[in-house]
Amino acid sequence: MPQRPIILSTTDHSRESAGMTYVYPVVSRRAGGVSIGINLNPNNACNWHCIYCQVPNLTRGGPPPIDLGLLARELDAMLEDLITGDFLERRVPTGQRRLVDIAFSGNGEPTSAREFPDAVMVARDAISRYRLSDSVKLRLITNGSLIDRRAVRHGLENLARARGEVWFKVDAADARSLARINGTRAEVAAIRRRLEECSAICSTWVQTCLFELDGHSLSPVELNALVSFLAAQRGVIRGVRLYGLARPSAQIDAPRLSPAPEAWLYQVASRLRDQGLTVEVSP
Ligand code: SF4
Repeated sequence: MPQRPIILSTTDHSRESAGMTYVYPVVSRRAGGVSIGINLNPNNACNWHCIYCQVPNLTRGGPPPIDLGLLARELDAMLEDLITGDFLERRVPTGQRRLVDIAFSGNGEPTSAREFPDAVMVARDAISRYRLSDSVKLRLITNGSLIDRRAVRHGLENLARARGEVWFKVDAADARSLARINGTRAEVAAIRRRLEECSAICSTWVQTCLFELDGHSLSPVELNALVSFLAAQRGVIRGVRLYGLARPSAQIDAPRLSPAPEAWLYQVASRLRDQGLTVEVSP
């Protein structure tokens, strides 16, 4: 019996839905349509360990070598099906049947792949071959931790040349929260420096995940630190995207997490707007 096609939804971002190694389609709540994801970490390895991470069997580390030829072929096949095939009709709910971006967003930190700068070129070439430069954005979703590497900055330059943009993760701006939320010992000063460096190379948004842990959101002191950090980036970053928990964490602490009240998210947004920042909210 033929299998019914799986309809994509905003709550299922399975990397396996297309049966490919690096490329997967999702309906993205944050991007507002279909997003083609590029997963440069098929081994589920990341240098951070965020408490809300949706990656199953997440391990610490980096990816194996990337087969750029395979990536190019997969991207081509996916775009062919989306642009000239019936993919949108078969797999995407009405109202969201438009391709909005191609995003480096996988099961780990994309910039940890040695081939990241070349992978950006592969995506950029695919976008121009399908004449999508005016309608489809090339994005990098990153924790920003590897921007000190020359090769990563080179990848950002390639992204900027493709008129792409970066979504840079900043969930907290104090050491204890960074350890608790992101499983990193990154220093706040280093995050600030990397964010500024990233913004100087390529158009950059901060993305911040807000949620409750054991029934508590960020404490007032932690929230003040985050707001001050972001306020100081006015004029540097494009803006801030606040989002809640859309999909369940796949980490051991998942039962301790719950969505933050929507009203609180909007209050945080309002505080940031009062600081002169552009803010978008996806509860
Ligand atoms: S940076 Fe992204 S992939 Fe890495 S642990 Fe955090 S949420 Fe998961």
